[in-house]
Amino acid sequence: MSMPQPGRRTSSGGVCPGCGQRPDSAETAARLRAELAVRWLVHEAGALVARGFCHRCVPPGPYGEVVCGFCGDGPLLAGALADADPIADPAVIGWLTSQGWEVDPVTCSSCRRAFGWAGPP
Ligand SMILES: [Zn+2]
Ligand SMILES: [Zn+2]
Repeated sequence: MSMPQPGRRTSSGGVCPGCGQRPDSAETAARLRAELAVRWLVHEAGALVARGFCHRCVPPGPYGEVVCGFCGDGPLLAGALADADPIADPAVIGWLTSQGWEVDPVTCSSCRRAFGWAGPP
């Protein structure tokens, strides 16, 4: 039998992991939350991870993106990742599949669930 899962608390967050900036008003807190909700795929300690940044910490330079063909959602890619076709990059493909994405065609995990596609357990 299974115990009910305790609801996952939303992090008290609203703090940028890049600069540690804390909002000083409800308005800046809302803006920072929106900024941090945008996910960037970055190389960190040899692995690809998704991070949110405030407008001061977003990676510089050109960027690319992976976009779900159905809902248009998806992470942004910075640095070296921006230059290549993301769907041709094994690291990006590895991250996407680990998040439950389908790569051909590019479909996010929520859309896959919406379509009732059976995934690996
Ligand atoms: Zn920041
Ligand atoms: Zn989608």
